[in-house]
Amino acid sequence: MDFRLTEEQEMTRDMVREFAQNEVKPVAWELDHKHDPKDCIPWDLIKKASALGLRTAAIPEKWGGEGVDYLTLAIILEELGAADHGFATIIRGCYTESPRLVHELNDEQRDEFLPKFLEDDTFLLGLARTEPDAGTDSHYLYDEPGASIRTYAERRGDEYVINGTKHFISCGGVAKLYFLYARTDKKGPISTSMSVFLMPHDAPGFSIGRFHNKLGRRLLPNAELIFEDARIPARYLIGKEGEAWGSEGEGGGGPQKDWVSTGAGAPPPFGLLGAAVNLGTVRACYEEALNYARTRIQGGKKIIEHEHVAINLAQMKVHVEAARALLWKSAWSWETRTNYDPKMGMLFKAYVDEIGLKIANDAVGIFGGLGTADDDVPIQKYLRDVHTFTHGFSTTAVAWLIGAPSDKP
Ligand SMILES: Cc1cc2nc3c(=O)[nH]c(=O)nc-3n(C[C@H](O)[C@H](O)[C@H](O)COP(=O)(O)OP(=O)(O)OC[C@H]3O[C@@H](n4cnc5c(N)ncnc54)[C@H](O)[C@@H]3O)c2cc1C
Repeated sequence: MDFRLTEEQEMTRDMVREFAQNEVKPVAWELDHKHDPKDCIPWDLIKKASALGLRTAAIPEKWGGEGVDYLTLAIILEELGAADHGFATIIRGCYTESPRLVHELNDEQRDEFLPKFLEDDTFLLGLARTEPDAGTDSHYLYDEPGASIRTYAERRGDEYVINGTKHFISCGGVAKLYFLYARTDKKGPISTSMSVFLMPHDAPGFSIGRFHNKLGRRLLPNAELIFEDARIPARYLIGKEGEAWGSEGEGGGGPQKDWVSTGAGAPPPFGLLGAAVNLGTVRACYEEALNYARTRIQGGKKIIEHEHVAINLAQMKVHVEAARALLWKSAWSWETRTNYDPKMGMLFKAYVDEIGLKIANDAVGIFGGLGTADDDVPIQKYLRDVHTFTHGFSTTAVAWLIGAPSDKP
């Protein structure tokens, strides 16, 4: 295995690092402080990222995008995450959802939606699965009849009529198109009752509820989606009714089959790219703490010369390097289909979640009182951002994925 990046990968990394550090980071610092979550949305950065080709990077060249390889996508997201977790996640949403426009939609659907995504520099995508009463259950198979999501899509003639509520949906209220998960059978087990639809933002009966006012990742809008007799043409069903379980990379089935027919082989591991963003923010915690420890003098010397601070920083460095090695290995494994396992994404996410919370916490400690203040030091922002990424479900997910016993409700 060769860990050297190609010249092109290095150029992309350097270009994105410059954009992230010079343009994203200062704007993120401003927007993070706004009280109303609607005021935190980074429209100008989205347009700039589009102009740089970052929004459409995951679409293969053959279909009109930049056709950037998977490892490079992970590298881009680490760099953006090192500047702002929320903004990086908006771009991550493009990388996880836009390939689905190519690989899961039929010709008629692709002809309708792919050009819109490619041509409009503010066209974002959302994935709507979580509901107030179905969080973890909506992602990891809890197959009791009737359990999990409740949003219901009923076929009436040439339309589906949809009722229900989603919440915490990333890019909710700003995305122009959502992959909407709904039941097409109210009573069956979720593994055979869930379908996935294309839901345009302006469909009749579809409205946006509140924008969640989050602790961190504030540049990422998260909102409630409300469907009250919302109507979409029946042709917006992706694949077949009841076959959507597995379409997010949990391990196959449903529309995933189409990735093979369009030449992409298999969908990438679920969770990996999101965790690449988190790795970027965790790296930023380490770098900020290192720089501060090299200049802050207490006890007659730079605090990095105090042994426990030095050991703390060394441990952070080891974890960041180990995480990146795991990320690159997982990306390589998928791209080359060498010992590939779809669980790699969530395993990597669980690892970065765990080391991330510790590193962010320790970095705040190295800054002393300043670590808790809002005095032009982003460290407490990073802590909030890293916390807002974990939201409880990654270790549960790993337990499900590796088949460990889990307390069923
Ligand atoms: C910033 C942010 C962005 C998000 N973006 C999206 C998005 O774009 N699209 C989307 O659909 N959703 C999104 N979500 C929702 C996210 O996927 C859910 O928050 C997550 O699935 C957890 O669900 P929950 O919050 O309802 O927690 P719950 O499922 O209620 O979990 C609460 C606690 O119980 C534990 N638990 C739950 N079930 C089990 C079990 N069976 N065994 C053991 N322990 C269990 C969990 O680990 C957790 O600690 C987002 C959330 C946030 C905070």
